[in-house]
Amino acid sequence: MTTTRTLGVRKRIALVAHDHMKDDLLEWAAFNKSVLSRHELIATGTTGRLLEEKLDRPVKKMLSGPLGGDQQIGAMIATGEIDVLIFFWDPMEAQPHDPDVKALLRLAVVWNIPAASNRTSSDFLMTSPLMHDAYEAIVPDYSGYLKRRL
Ligand code: PGA
Repeated sequence: MTTTRTLGVRKRIALVAHDHMKDDLLEWAAFNKSVLSRHELIATGTTGRLLEEKLDRPVKKMLSGPLGGDQQIGAMIATGEIDVLIFFWDPMEAQPHDPDVKALLRLAVVWNIPAASNRTSSDFLMTSPLMHDAYEAIVPDYSGYLKRRL
């Protein structure tokens, strides 16, 4: 049996950028300011503060990524509180919280949410007509897995 989850018209977009990628994300966000203005923004601590300044609008700020922010956002994906993930992770540098980074990317796939990790993919997401409509996302069926566990 297939279940779905509705991604509403106003989407909850999580944004995360590693330190060397923050300028990129801020530039991208400024370029996409008008589309982003129609949605709710959630971010890891430092990324969120910088986005608030750049976009002059409130952003829900979680803890800083290395202090647990990535895990908070991952948990929100699992509980259906995040609809879209924009995650500019640094391909050129190891992070102290690499396990959290991997976990966050994994949960985006587990829960089948739209996720982008570079500017081009993020532009493609933001220009999708689906950003402005409600969308029924298929929730993968983990009942077999759960039955084996209980
Ligand atoms: P930050 O965290 O926004 O607090 O810098 C980002 C991250 O490294 O996950």
